[in-house]
Parts: sequence; C-alpha cells; structure tokens
Amino acid sequence: IPVEDFDLVVFGGTGDLAQRKILPGLFRRYVAGQMPESARIIGAARSDYSDGDYCDLAHDAIVEHVADVDRDKLSAFLDQLHYIAIDAKGDKGWGELKDLIRSDVITAFYFSVGPSLFGDLAERLHSHGIADRDSRVVVEKPFGRDLESARALNRTLADHFDERQIYRIDHYLGKETVQNLMAVRFGNVLFEPLWNQHYVDHIQITVAEEIGVEGRGEYYDRSGAMRDMVQNHLMQLLCLIAMEPPSVFGSDAVRDEKLKVIRALQPVASHEIVRGQYDGADGMTSYREDVGDPRSHTESFIALKVHCSNWRWAGVPFYLRTGKRMKARSSEIAVTFKDLAHSIFPGDEARHRNILSIQLQPDEGMNLQVTIKEPGPGGMRLIDVPLDMTFADALGPENNDIPDAYERLIMDVIRGNQTLFMRGDEVEAAWAWTDPIIDGWEERGDVPKPYDSCSAGPEDAMMLMHRDGRRWRDIK
Ligand code: NAD
Repeated sequence: IPVEDFDLVVFGGTGDLAQRKILPGLFRRYVAGQMPESARIIGAARSDYSDGDYCDLAHDAIVEHVADVDRDKLSAFLDQLHYIAIDAKGDKGWGELKDLIRSDVITAFYFSVGPSLFGDLAERLHSHGIADRDSRVVVEKPFGRDLESARALNRTLADHFDERQIYRIDHYLGKETVQNLMAVRFGNVLFEPLWNQHYVDHIQITVAEEIGVEGRGEYYDRSGAMRDMVQNHLMQLLCLIAMEPPSVFGSDAVRDEKLKVIRALQPVASHEIVRGQYDGADGMTSYREDVGDPRSHTESFIALKVHCSNWRWAGVPFYLRTGKRMKARSSEIAVTFKDLAHSIFPGDEARHRNILSIQLQPDEGMNLQVTIKEPGPGGMRLIDVPLDMTFADALGPENNDIPDAYERLIMDVIRGNQTLFMRGDEVEAAWAWTDPIIDGWEERGDVPKPYDSCSAGPEDAMMLMHRDGRRWRDIK
C-alpha cells in the first residue's frame, strides 16, 4: 500500500548512513510500490553538489547495497531525488530548501548528522518557515552520552517540535523478527500464560559482532559497549520481552509499558557485570591499536545480569551480552523455560528444556525447542528438536523478502506511526539506569578484562552464568 505523498529531507544525505541504509532502503520501498511517484527525497549536506552529482552518488550507493537492481526502476527513482548544499550552522541553502518544500504534502526531516547539529537544524527549519506543526523529524543514535546530555537533546528538540513529531530511531525495533516477537507473544494463547517467573528460568540477549571498531575508533573509544549497545539496542529488546501486554498495539500504549520495564530494572552490582576489551591475535590488531590509545580503558565487550523487579519477573535473571571481535556475527534473544516438574520417562537423564529463540542476525528467524520421541523402534527415547516458527514455507516466497529495518522505519515516519520509535522519557529512563554503572567504573578506575579476538569474550563472562548453574548459548 503506497504511503501518502511526501517530501523527505535527508540532512547528512551524502554521509555513510545515507549511502548504506537510507537511500538503498528508500529505493527498495520504491520498487515495492510504496513510494508515490510524486514523492521527493532531498539530500541536504555540506558538499557543493548539483542534483546530477547527487543522483550519481545515490546510484552508486544503491548499486552497491541492493541486490539485483532493476536499471529502469533505478533511473525512475533517481528522478525523484534532489540535492541542496546547505550549512546547518549558517545561512547557505535554507532559502532554496524553503522554495523546494511543498506545503501540501507530508514533510519529514531526517537528521542523519551528529547530535551537535540537531539544535541548529531544528532552529533553522523554524526560522525559515520550512517545518510546520505536522512535520516529522527523525533523529539517529547516539541520543546523548548520559542522562544530562540526553535531557539537553530532548529539551533542544522540544523547543521546536512536539513529542508526537519526534522519531528517535533504534533500528533494532525495525527488524521484522522483533515485531514478530510481539505477534507471537500477544497473538497466541500459548505463550502469554507461561511468560512469567513461574515458567521462565532465565532470558539471554546476545548481540555479537565479528568486526572490531574498524573506522569508528575515535567515536567508539569515547563511548564503549555500554553506551553504544546496551543503553539502547539491548535495552529495547529487553523491554519488548519483559513488558506487560499493552491494551492496544499503539505508540503510547506500547511505549508506556516499555517505560515501566526500564523503571523496574534493578541497579546492577559490580560483581554482576563483566567488561572486556579485545586483544590482537593471528595478525589481527588489538582494540588499543585500533583506537590508537595504548592505555584505553573503554570496553568493547560487556556481559551483565539484571533483574526486573515486578510480579511477572521476580527472581528471573536477564543476562545481556554484547561485544566486538567475537567469534561470529550473531544476535539472539533466548527465553529458556523451566524444567519439567516431574518426568514420567524412566531412564531419561537428559535435561529437556523448551527454549524460544529469536535470531536477529545474521539471518532473522524464530524457533522453539521442543522435546519429542526419537522416531523408530528404540523405545521411548526423547530428543530435542527446533520447531521452525519462521514459517517461510507456509507463507510462500512472496513473503520472504524481508524489508530492512531502516526502510520499514522510514515508511512508519511517513505514516505517522511512532510505535517502533523511542519516546524521550524512555531514553532518559534508560540513561538513568546506565549512568550509575558507568560512574562506578570511573570512580573505581575499572580496567576491562582482555579477551582473545574471535572468542566468546572474557572468561569472567562465562563465570557470570556458571555461578548460577547456567551457561551462555553458543555464538554461531
Ligand atoms: P558521516 O560523517 O558519514 O556524514 C555526515 C553528514 O553530515 C555528511 O553528509 C555531511 O555533509 C553532513 N554535515 C556535517 N556537518 C554539516 C553541516 N554543518 N551542515 C550540513 N551538513 C553537514 O556520518 P554518518 O556515519 O552518515 O552518521 C550520521 C549520523 O547517524 C550520526 O549521528 C551517527 O552517529 C548516526 N549513525 C550512523 C550510523 C552508520 O552506520 N553510519 C549508524 C547509526 C547511527
């Protein structure tokens, strides 16, 4: 279904994110027939490009990042692109942008630039009469580096836009499987009755990356895994797993429930958190070499145990783990259910457990580990098998072309649907939980534990679960 006609301005339209995600994503939506022919995408950035130069840049970015590009469709899509050389901090380009923007269509402004420019952009969009009360702004991570800076950013945006106009992106929420998690939880009678401390033993959330800090060393070293991954992505995944059923799948109802989860998270004791930093191995550089600081104490890995103090989750640990330069690129949420109260099968010593696992990377999918009888005449022997809940076969090939998170989220912006975007109070609550942990490290002069590149992280992270008689799932 096509969205309504729109003008989308991408500030930072020549940047890495625009080239890798935003432009390719918009093209795929165009090919899917979701973008009206009259909709326009306006790149706005510092470079002195013509419309033609920008189309060349977009062309190359799309050919690089989209498989099997249809050349005719690409050429038609490029006709919808415009470019304005603009200075976020000066006057250049703003008059031209004002002339270009239509007042009778949806207007959206994607701030794909560093947060230090948000205030300048918001202020000029208003002083030049470009944004109106129905315009939308999309802002990228990082949304602050602590509670104070996040509050300041929220205030800056609130000076010019209402909360209903602000779309804070966390692209993990745009993943198909993350939304499917909500469909499975709240669309079936089977899971919700079991989704609590009576039946769930523990929950693991892992986001493992194979790559190191690559070209982002300077930014990353000021941030670290806690700020870059846990405060936002892992926290959002935890919220969707742990939240109460909202009364309706609507933006405020969902976000109210997520906020309650964050506020119910207990502080994490220092012995329940492990920080790590990757070492070099087999010709690979170490973290410290990558960031060019031989004394850096920034963590590239983190594992922690947290409890959500409410009736549903009392006593159920949530184990969170994320790191760079790990043995595989793999992101997964796993809900491990409790052991059977009593086994009726004599001689079966194995521990059979139902585990619902939701894979987010490299491929998206969902499966439920169930115990069945091993087929054949060997008697009543039990085995565990994964029940594939992706249902690719049942849905047919036309439903297997999963949209990338960014393209889905951008279409939600045009539709005016904020459900999969973070609200200002959620972000602040997440920082309020994160800040004391980071402050504690700084006060203690905490040094992260080294771990081998291409491993599962430091040994202490294994101990975090072993102590509780549990183990991390394999990263594969
Ligand atoms: P980038 O450095 O590649 O691009 C920055 C863009 O901003 C360029 O188009 C540049 O022309 C424009 N710009 C800078 N100063 C300007 C000014 N004064 N006036 C007008 N335009 C100006 O950055 P990026 O990697 O594309 O990241 C953009 C934002 O998205 C950042 O906030 C980043 O943290 C966030 N982000 C990026 C990624 C990613 O994968 N690249 C992922 C998540 C979030």
